[in-house]
Amino acid sequence: MDFELFILGSSSATPSKGRYQSAQLLKIHTDFFMIDCGEAAQYQIGRYKLNHAKISHIFISHLHGDHFFGLVGLLSTMNLYGRKNPIYLYAPPGLDEIIQLQLKYSETILQFPIHYTTLDKNESEHILDHPLVDVYTIPLDHRIRCNGFLFKEKPKPFKIDKSKLPPDLSLLEIAQLKQGIDVVDDDGNSKARVEDICFKALKTRSYAYCSDTKINESYFPFIEGVDLLYHETTFLDELIDRANKTFHTTAKQAAELAKRANVGKLVIGHFSSRYYDTEPFIIEAGSIFEKTYLGVEGSSFVISDRIKDEENH
Ligand SMILES: [Zn+2]
Repeated sequence: MDFELFILGSSSATPSKGRYQSAQLLKIHTDFFMIDCGEAAQYQIGRYKLNHAKISHIFISHLHGDHFFGLVGLLSTMNLYGRKNPIYLYAPPGLDEIIQLQLKYSETILQFPIHYTTLDKNESEHILDHPLVDVYTIPLDHRIRCNGFLFKEKPKPFKIDKSKLPPDLSLLEIAQLKQGIDVVDDDGNSKARVEDICFKALKTRSYAYCSDTKINESYFPFIEGVDLLYHETTFLDELIDRANKTFHTTAKQAAELAKRANVGKLVIGHFSSRYYDTEPFIIEAGSIFEKTYLGVEGSSFVISDRIKDEENH
């Protein structure tokens, strides 16, 4: 089953030097989960031949324009293409009002419903219980209310190798094996063991999105051990004072955090438009945390569900 991240935008604040504002798509199986929706998001979706009709849920981290100004345009396009399926939208307070106002004065009536979930808590919330994935907010430390998001794949049932199945097992006992529980008889003797009968378990994958924020210990537990971490790196460490003042992070800081949190891979982005070249970011972060990648436009990151590391970039 697919678990793949597509980067649509890597710029902070303004489009610049071929980079666009924050937007990502996380593909889980056949569903697309959109994370932030900068101004060029729908253009980028077309450019990389992704399909906006498959977007089911949209998560907006905060209401700085570079993270949501593409939203009403995308919703309008979906409408023009005849969308009927609902959109589930998760965002800080105010976005519902902003969208309704834009639609009202453009006399646009969407032919599909939008279900809003307002994110107004200071603590992490479990905001989505989807058949394939659980989503939690990660409260961040920015100038205005800002949430990151943690996507945790649900454990998958064990697959049974039918050729190894003892003939005397009941349906209930088989169901028990699929849950990963060994079967024993009334006297406690083993009847069937998961490791003898089932194929190897598949990994449950996780992705944490952290933008925009200053480094803060409070969100460390949410990113610890994730397979893939996206963390903003607006500045290089030479501008750490500016990063602190504007509640942003440097490449060095993000890499130190990723290393300490023992994540599988670090993807960096939200680069300030002052930088023409993003290569110094990978040099700075990569020297501290080797598995760092530039989250530039058009890049994608696959997370494998095999227990052994067969991931490819
Ligand atoms: Zn911001």
